[in-house]
Amino acid sequence: MISDKTAENRELIKEYPFLAVEKGNDRYSWYDDIPEGWKKAFGLQMVKELKDLLLLASKRDGVDWLREYEITDVKEKYGSLRWYALEPSCIIDEYEEWEEKYENLSYETCIECGAPADGHTMGWIVPLCSRCAKKHGWELAPEKTGNEP
Ligand SMILES: [Zn+2]
Repeated sequence: MISDKTAENRELIKEYPFLAVEKGNDRYSWYDDIPEGWKKAFGLQMVKELKDLLLLASKRDGVDWLREYEITDVKEKYGSLRWYALEPSCIIDEYEEWEEKYENLSYETCIECGAPADGHTMGWIVPLCSRCAKKHGWELAPEKTGNEP
């Protein structure tokens, strides 16, 4: 369904210009790189909060951060969402708080369906609910005891 995706990205980029992978190209967005379950659970909330932060940054230092803010990578790593970008230094505290919030939230959210995760797969660590784990025949690791590194 390429056309649906394109339409979705057009809308997204109109509202959140910083999601464009390439300036002037509204077919692809960094939003595409967020795993489905996480998108469903908190994707829009996350980019909405980011937009508010960028507007706050613009108010503080006069730079048009909705245009200047540049994402370099969005991906899952060690079971949580990583969002790489050059953040405006005038909102560094708020920005780090935002980043950490979604890193933690993603770790607790099923990467496939967005339900609260019941555990994490072993080896390639991803958070899954027990239903999605069962669907794949994957076993979930026992929860961390706090003694592990
Ligand atoms: Zn699930």
